[in-house]
Amino acid sequence: MFIVHVASEFAPIAKVGGLADVLLGLCRELTWKGHDVEIILPFYDCMDRSKIEDLTQEEQTFTTHWDNQKCTNRVWHGKVEGLTVTFIDPQTQDKFFERGQYYGYPDDPYRFAYFSRSVLEYLQQRNKHPDVLHIHDWQQGLIPVLNKKVFAESGLKIGRILMTIHNIDYQGWCEEGVFNKAGAPIQPEFLQNDSYNMLKAGIIYCNILTTVSPNYSYEVQTPEGGKGLDELLRQYRSKFYGILNGIDYSYWNPSIDRYLPENYCLEGQNIEDIRLTKTRIKNMLQKRMGLTVGNHPLVGAVTRLVPQKGIEQIKQALFRTVEKGGQFLLLGSSPLPEIQIEFEQLQIRFKDNPNVHIELSYNEDLSHLFFAAGDILVVPSLFEPCGLTQLIALKYGTIPIVRKTGGLADTINDVDFSRKEIEERNGYVFENPDENGIYSALDRAMHCYYDDFQKWQDLVDRALKLNFSWTNPANLYLELYSKEI
Ligand code: ADP
Repeated sequence: MFIVHVASEFAPIAKVGGLADVLLGLCRELTWKGHDVEIILPFYDCMDRSKIEDLTQEEQTFTTHWDNQKCTNRVWHGKVEGLTVTFIDPQTQDKFFERGQYYGYPDDPYRFAYFSRSVLEYLQQRNKHPDVLHIHDWQQGLIPVLNKKVFAESGLKIGRILMTIHNIDYQGWCEEGVFNKAGAPIQPEFLQNDSYNMLKAGIIYCNILTTVSPNYSYEVQTPEGGKGLDELLRQYRSKFYGILNGIDYSYWNPSIDRYLPENYCLEGQNIEDIRLTKTRIKNMLQKRMGLTVGNHPLVGAVTRLVPQKGIEQIKQALFRTVEKGGQFLLLGSSPLPEIQIEFEQLQIRFKDNPNVHIELSYNEDLSHLFFAAGDILVVPSLFEPCGLTQLIALKYGTIPIVRKTGGLADTINDVDFSRKEIEERNGYVFENPDENGIYSALDRAMHCYYDDFQKWQDLVDRALKLNFSWTNPANLYLELYSKEI
């Protein structure tokens, strides 16, 4: 099958959050299964180009019809982690992808509408006809509309368009001009309140719609979870599916992780050896972070600091951990200045505390070290479409504490209260997004860590044995790629 993925992020070269990981993991699995996969991305100036192999510019350019003008684009090709990636490089005065950041500009809807139109122009002008065009989030919301109303009529053949919603909080609200410039017809249904909505347009016109966990697919169909789109999603529920994300174990895997000073895995090592290895990595990390070196429970969070992630509960977890004699590592960065400032103040407050380290940056290296060195990961999200960090943590034998929402509820079962089989009980879960909620779970976890060594060791052992690879989710996507529609 010829499958083209169009996205705004791709790990490890252009990563803001989980979307980037999902693209890499899914595309890699599809390639392993023998499919012909091409990934199309904007040619961002801020990408990590050192991780693109054989980056070459095509001699031929192509044209995008935009705002009644013809705009020229360069095309680049390269290999990322062995996968074929095509980059679209607009030569317009707007310098859409030469901004230093991936997102956060007032004209973001214009930037990605331009990119969306350009993808279809590229496929058409290069005579490429994918069996499946798989698009991701609002950034490509105009593709299904443009395909149906403009490109399909002028000869572009795309077998089907599958759209995945990774987070319904981001919908691409915009003015009419975005649709006009892209040449996409406007319909009253695309309006929401007083804004046009790019995600809505995509939902209506795509052939198949998915989101990233079964539980989230139900939540977004409710008024509380749908962020204004619940009714529309209920209307289209016959084409709407929830497929849990996987984890790319060729990247997130303590047995081969290149960021770790020592590797470990259950094949060839027993659980006690693993505990000792994790402790050595912890001691190394403690030294590096200026924390007291010793066998304190190491709790942490690796996250974008945005309201969705339960900012208050992250802070409460930090305070409580210290109160209980543990150590806390917060690795987070915020696109929102007020939240960034709030955490900078917290950082100053704990500057000299030997049990707290707050790192306010995006740091891949440190994230791997924490997953390996840590004992407990907190993910107290207010909502979470799937969540990857809890799954990564399990693979590294670090126990997740999560709020019962979205994909967190699909993947983590409380060790004390779940009715699932014991093998599936893999963490601590709380419901209420408040101090009592996070304390109840954190206190139980700390108590187990300090006072019930065998139970904790068994829990770590079970976590290490779980499998959240991409094999199964990729099969589910393949079923949708070829399902009768
Ligand atoms: P989201 O996509 O909402 O940000 P996910 O849990 O799906 O959340 O994915 C987050 C991904 O980004 C994980 O791979 C996590 O390790 C990584 N990540 C988040 N914040 C940081 C950070 N400050 N430094 C390094 N990695 C981070």
